[in-house]
Amino acid sequence: MLTTLRRIILEFSQNADLESALFRMVTQVKTALNTDCCSIYLADYATEHFVLMASDGLAKDALGNTRIGFSEGLVGLVGQREEPLNISDAHKHPQFIKTPIVQEDELNAFLGTPIIHQRKVLGILSIQQKESRHFTENEEAFVVTLSAQLAMALANAEVRYGLTEKNNQTTRQLKGVSGSSGVAIGPLFVIQPTVQLQSITLEKHTDKETELVRFKQAISDTRHEFERMAEELSRVISDNSLDIFEMYKQLLGNADIGHEVENKINDGWNTQSALKLVVDSYVVQFEALDDNYLRERASDIKDLGNRILANLLEKNSQVNEPLDAFILVAEDVTASMLAEYQHFGLQGIVSLTGSNNSHAAILARALGLPAIMGVDKIPLGQLHKQTAILDGYSGELYVAPNDSLLKEYKHLIEEEYALADKVKQVEKLPAITLDGKCIELQLNAGLSSGFEHSSSTGAIGIGLYRTEIPFMNQSCFPSEQQQTDLYRQVLAAFPKKSVTMRTLDVGGDKALPYFPIVEDNPFLGWRGIRITLDHPEIFLQQVRAMIKANYGHNNLEIMLPMISNISEVDEATRLINQAYYELSSELNIIDQSKFVKPKIGMMIEVPGVIFQLREFASKVDFFSVGSNDLTQYLLAVDRNNAQVSDLYDAYHPAVLRALNTIAQESSKYLVPLSLCGELASEPSGALLLLAMGYDKLSMNPHNISRIKWVVRHVELHKMKVILAHVLSLSSTKQVHSYMREQLEHLGLGGFVRAGM
Ligand code: PEP
Ligand code: MG
Repeated sequence: MLTTLRRIILEFSQNADLESALFRMVTQVKTALNTDCCSIYLADYATEHFVLMASDGLAKDALGNTRIGFSEGLVGLVGQREEPLNISDAHKHPQFIKTPIVQEDELNAFLGTPIIHQRKVLGILSIQQKESRHFTENEEAFVVTLSAQLAMALANAEVRYGLTEKNNQTTRQLKGVSGSSGVAIGPLFVIQPTVQLQSITLEKHTDKETELVRFKQAISDTRHEFERMAEELSRVISDNSLDIFEMYKQLLGNADIGHEVENKINDGWNTQSALKLVVDSYVVQFEALDDNYLRERASDIKDLGNRILANLLEKNSQVNEPLDAFILVAEDVTASMLAEYQHFGLQGIVSLTGSNNSHAAILARALGLPAIMGVDKIPLGQLHKQTAILDGYSGELYVAPNDSLLKEYKHLIEEEYALADKVKQVEKLPAITLDGKCIELQLNAGLSSGFEHSSSTGAIGIGLYRTEIPFMNQSCFPSEQQQTDLYRQVLAAFPKKSVTMRTLDVGGDKALPYFPIVEDNPFLGWRGIRITLDHPEIFLQQVRAMIKANYGHNNLEIMLPMISNISEVDEATRLINQAYYELSSELNIIDQSKFVKPKIGMMIEVPGVIFQLREFASKVDFFSVGSNDLTQYLLAVDRNNAQVSDLYDAYHPAVLRALNTIAQESSKYLVPLSLCGELASEPSGALLLLAMGYDKLSMNPHNISRIKWVVRHVELHKMKVILAHVLSLSSTKQVHSYMREQLEHLGLGGFVRAGM
């Protein structure tokens, strides 16, 4: 039974055309169950009807022409009840309605099951038989299992075939994950690579010397291309997200891919074949890894291989006639594509593969472009030049949007522009409420746009400097000196303002290419402080670099991620002290006032910590809540899993109550408290946190003025009343709608945007 089920579903998903896929399926099910009829109806939500799409047993003329209302007949009943209906004589059922066109007079037994994906009824699968009998439990189990699997395949098919559009002439909605926030509207510009290693057939050469010369020339051309790209991008990006091009150049070098390809040419392969063999073997190795970040590197290597190939064959990739303003779409958007198109009218990017770890996403954030990654599979050809709305907040792409959606999003973009102008007025002013409560707004830096520009954002220091990226875009751990130089720049950008540097927080979904971690549950595994305490040499090198960089600046604070045990704080503090005292003597410090020991704080991300705040309070100088991880761990929802993304919400009453408890406890034990997760950058979130008593909020640079404006237009005592009500609510939905309502009342309705 299992093999039959698998075969049916596999064939369905491999079929290029929906109609024939459905038809093949009904025939196979009818044969497998030895019945007289199998049919599939698909839901048309615009008209609230089920449409008969495929049948083996009902009249051919009925296909596409039979529409059954959502509350009509047995098919409607299955949809309404959302459960199977197994009856021996359909004609006697009170809800049976005769539909002459289908010619089912002789079919008595009926078994219908709903096809449900993510709680939405996509259609109905039915089997019918002349003999009047109940279908057996096994038959019912087969159909129910098939429907559940079909639901997943159909959800993809909905995307692949544009099902919704075909039936209703409406907008097609594709779902991915947010790679970079923001909204863009424009025609889609699809890039298909002109040459791909994938299509090369292996051949031997006749002249080794010529092949080696060709290869060297292609390598040199490719290297120049990367230099040009990095140089062009460096005019608009100032942070280390550009290191990807350094990595590419390194891989081209003699020690890596370049050398291996030459060996293969020496073995007799022609250049294209040698390149394909080497790149494929790297890709296979990377793709086999469990680690998300490392798997993404397979795409970087493919990009590199295809670029060398294009140069070998002298076929430049298609940089042709981009439209004035466009959203770039590709199967795999690469960092180099962004480099090539960013100076045209690039408004946003959509990549069918990848995640928010992809280099394209990292660069998009640095460029301030909205991006969606890992969008459901869809034939790219269908998208070219179609108008689309890219919602980088929710990860949704609307292709051929209807007028009302377009109007809504255009309005949103206009509002965003207007709001950006409006809030700019308060950029240089303090974040102080109408009744005088002052709060510090700080910057989250390290992942996105350069901290060099940070003073112009109106932020008071850096609340979270993520140190992972400089470690990620490398082929080995950065040296102490490299780190010192980088950290010095960061500290210098905020003289006399605190800069909170987080020690290396890899693991989970972030990994280092040269330090693979393979484990079943990475978010519950070896991550953050757990890794660095197991590798004191890495930890010590990093904190030494931080402390050295702090010499003369004296604005460093060190923050420890993913703390779950008191002993971790003790051990980390011991190592930081060791680094500090070692450096004091090594550097021969004369003026001790220029070399102060940094404050040490910890992140509150693991729920267990909330019950031990008193003990932790006596060990650290400050607490900073990582609400992104705290939400994921409190609600047991993987923050990167699209399947459960609806459940991931920091406005869940449990999360808000936990945040409130943290604020009360911190105040009781006199520990300065900040929050550096995404919640701080949302108007509702920031206001609730302010009312709870958070002293500092840290957020990405784009939101500082916006939150400042909001804070400056409320009164703390009113926010406390709102908070008290929010804390009494029992569902996330209630919290959202109440907060929307309250923002409207406060005259801040413009700050409530879709997807927030
Ligand atoms: C957090 O978890 O809220 C946080 C700020 O850290 P990161 O998003 O880097 O895990
Ligand atoms: Mg975190």
